[in-house]
Amino acid sequence: SINIFWFRRDLRLDDNMGLYHALIDDQPVLPLFIFDTNILNQLEDRHDPRVSFIHQQIISINNLLKSKGSSLLVKYGAPIEIWKKLIQEYQITKVYTNHDYEPYALDRDKKVASLFNGHGITFNTYKDQVLLEKNEVLKENGDPYVVFTPYSRQWHNTISDKNYDPVPSALLFKNFIKKRFNEPLSLEQIDFKPTRIEIPPASLADTTLKHYEEHRDFPSMDGTSRLGVHLRFGTVSIRKIANDARKKSKVFLNELIWREFYQMILWHFPRVVVENFQTKYNKLNWRNNEKEFEAWCNGQTGYPIVDAGMRELNTTGHMHNRVRMIVASFLTKHLLIDWRWGEAYFAKKLLDYELASNNGGWQWAAGTGVDAAPYFRVFNPELQTKRFDPELKYIRQWVPEFQELNYPRPIVEHKQARERAIQTYKEALDS
Ligand code: FAD
Repeated sequence: SINIFWFRRDLRLDDNMGLYHALIDDQPVLPLFIFDTNILNQLEDRHDPRVSFIHQQIISINNLLKSKGSSLLVKYGAPIEIWKKLIQEYQITKVYTNHDYEPYALDRDKKVASLFNGHGITFNTYKDQVLLEKNEVLKENGDPYVVFTPYSRQWHNTISDKNYDPVPSALLFKNFIKKRFNEPLSLEQIDFKPTRIEIPPASLADTTLKHYEEHRDFPSMDGTSRLGVHLRFGTVSIRKIANDARKKSKVFLNELIWREFYQMILWHFPRVVVENFQTKYNKLNWRNNEKEFEAWCNGQTGYPIVDAGMRELNTTGHMHNRVRMIVASFLTKHLLIDWRWGEAYFAKKLLDYELASNNGGWQWAAGTGVDAAPYFRVFNPELQTKRFDPELKYIRQWVPEFQELNYPRPIVEHKQARERAIQTYKEALDS
């Protein structure tokens, strides 16, 4: 009989909590990855760079395992169906995996847990993608925090050195099952194609941390880590990154705490996926003009900083955080388009797309979320440009034609749009 370790959003062999626990147990471990068709079938773009990235990662994990006399079992299908077959095929004692807090994943894990239970298989799951999760940071009365600052204070009170300790999962290769499985399906075989979009390296330079506070708000500077995609798929360990951050940049650590805050919110309030966190805005009368939405998506609003952001996103799969805030405020306030439209567009395009943070960021910008900006706060794109792209370097990079005749005229006038937004939000509150 064997134990199985199931990789999901933790695509690495080193410092992987669930994997470590599987490998110190007393049975050989069969490592498994499932290309989940419930997720893949929803992706519209067959060139989706995130799928290529996962695929590459799977190949490299498999190669590493092969060099140690083992290999990765890779399946393609709906997880519950795959598990039913695996249970027939192998004598499984325990299944190990890491927590995932998204509603789809929770539902999937509940179903497989019940299947395992019916077959006498133990399901052991671990915290791996955050330092503190679920109910670990609560108010004194036991409620979850819904405001960041007190949450982060309590996060600091709760965290201990142990939370940062790495686990040596990569030293335990000998405990993997010695078996050569078939080579993983190719990208084409799972019906995807390679992409030209590049994934930034999974490393955090000391100089980034050193200058993070000064540089991070300027989109023309290479001042942030670009680790989002790696934290999303677990190709770096949060313990390692946070341990570096706590020694070298408190401001960077604070951003990682925002990430944990939104994961915690999603876990406690899964309704935010489809609903305003603050239900008092449910009557908001969005304009939802499709032509304007299209202009926003294509970076053709006539507001250079907004257009630069959207073009950066469309070309690279990344957008600087400052500009994410500007374009999201512009869509929800200036154009009065439902944040769910913008959120869905980001979900399609961002390499670092993460349901919890994306939803949190969008609801923050729209003023409907936890700890959100007040409704009357409407970013002024021109002032934002003066402060954060004073030499127009970022704008020139992405919208070189912005001073020419063929550049679109502003889609709305700032002052009017601002007043219209404030009025519309007020009406929602009064109704
Ligand atoms: P760095 O500045 O180097 O930060 C390091 C890491 O900290 C990030 O990789 C991320 O994991 C975390 N982090 C930083 N800022 C935030 C934040 N405000 N909230 C949560 N985590 C943060 N982040 C995502 O990871 N996925 C998303 O889908 C996403 N969508 C967003 C949508 C909107 C409208 C807004 C305003 C923000 C969104 N963010 C999202 C947060 C933030 O913009 C990105 O995490 C950041 O830009 C990623 O670049 P980086 O890795 O260079 O970040």
